[in-house]
Amino acid sequence: MSIAQNLNNIKSSLPEQVTLVAVSKTKPVNDIMEAYNASHRIFGENKVQEMVEKYEEMPKDIQWHMIGHLQRNKVKYMAEFVSLIHGVDNFKLLREINKQAKKHNRVIDCLLQIKIASEDSKFGMRTDEASTILMSEDFSELNNVRIVGVMGMATFTKNNKQIRQEFNNLKSTFDKLKEIENDNCMMKTISMGMSGDYELAIECGSNMIRVGSSIFGARNYSI
Ligand SMILES: *Cc1c(COP(=O)(O)O)cnc(C)c1O
Repeated sequence: MSIAQNLNNIKSSLPEQVTLVAVSKTKPVNDIMEAYNASHRIFGENKVQEMVEKYEEMPKDIQWHMIGHLQRNKVKYMAEFVSLIHGVDNFKLLREINKQAKKHNRVIDCLLQIKIASEDSKFGMRTDEASTILMSEDFSELNNVRIVGVMGMATFTKNNKQIRQEFNNLKSTFDKLKEIENDNCMMKTISMGMSGDYELAIECGSNMIRVGSSIFGARNYSI
């Protein structure tokens, strides 16, 4: 099936509160344009340089989401245009995003990445670390970032019971953090679910899914 068909099949199956981020990492501009021409506007990339190159080449009404692990020294390259940063996992990074956003006179929306998987390789903070940040005075002084939700990645496993448990944990973290009200904290987004598990994620309360291979086909990292 074509990219446009895959996209439309997935979109037509989603409840209306769920936002689809089409994960276009490693895929060429031509493929992304096929999705764009099928009216899709939200794309996710996990490498800053790749996202910047695509941003420069492509129509400017695309909303670019940074979904990968982010290094502080790369924030400056995308601060002008990035629409949502999913993987914020420490305060120093948040402070750098704030600094770069300020240079462009804008507020950058961010999600806190919470570690829900049992694998050591996955990034993210604990619920108590997230709430400590959101309630701190240092955070309240960051006027150019806004925390709009949480993001998490489940363990890579076929055990649906475990995945469901991890998604439920992220939902309860979200519910807990939602009680914190600040000028720069407005919890509304739960980014969880990928090609293999987005239906389960939606059952567990996800309202933003990040889907790559089910739209664009398998990725080839060797090229
Ligand atoms: C690559 C990636 C996805 C999409 O993965 P698929 O299995 O291809 O849907 C989602 N989220 C993150 C953080 C990713 O890096």
